[in-house]
Amino acid sequence: MTLYIVATPIGNLKDITLRALEILKGVDLILAEDTRVTRKLLDHYEIKVPLESYHQHTPIPSASGGATGQGDLTKFNRILDTLKNGKNIALVTDAGTPGINDPGGLLIEKILEIAPETNIIPIPGPNAAITALSASGINADKFLFLGYPPHKKGRQTLFKKIAESEYPVVLYESTHRIMRTLQELAEFDEIKERKLIVARELTKQFETIYRGTINEILPQIEKESRGEFVIIINAK
Ligand code: SAM
Repeated sequence: MTLYIVATPIGNLKDITLRALEILKGVDLILAEDTRVTRKLLDHYEIKVPLESYHQHTPIPSASGGATGQGDLTKFNRILDTLKNGKNIALVTDAGTPGINDPGGLLIEKILEIAPETNIIPIPGPNAAITALSASGINADKFLFLGYPPHKKGRQTLFKKIAESEYPVVLYESTHRIMRTLQELAEFDEIKERKLIVARELTKQFETIYRGTINEILPQIEKESRGEFVIIINAK
């Protein structure tokens, strides 16, 4: 009857809330983006609840009446039946808050469409963007969160918007693209002048927060570009 949306650590396993642990221990089923990643968390806290995968490719009912992606709706229907039978499910992703650049949104939308009586309860916790902003030293009363920059289409348009933004902009970036994204952002004169924060591997062993202009930060990242990154570009 209840689908809990549970935030999990973005690196340090101790960053899980007491409530999240209580919920994960008490539900009938945990849906995880990657069961191997979540298994480590569950083993660490000795949680022995059935675990199943639910990720961005798991088919859910589409607007046209079929299913999204490839495959059938067996899993979606089973999730729905479990909830309709009065059982409780927790949805987690590999790291951070479900639905934020992670699976969650579509599943919730479809469940509410078909079974509006389902309770959807968020269990708040870590999120990489908010964690980076909290230590940024940038006024974050208002900010623009844009997730991952697109790889091709719309990339330049987005960068232009960032260059003109009245608000600090927060981006996510991966090991493979961090250098390219920073180099391309450095091509904008408006961005070159600004204060930038690049937060790498937050809460993990090699956590590093780089602060400065983009040209000050670039050579440092070039030396060590492994990891997960949040980029914050101050407002103009
Ligand atoms: N749902 C997650 C959240 O609440 O932050 C985000 C998931 S998204 C698939 C993964 C991206 O978040 C990474 O590529 C990186 O940009 C950012 N991220 C996640 N963990 C991070 C960390 N420990 N340090 C820095 N960035 C991180």
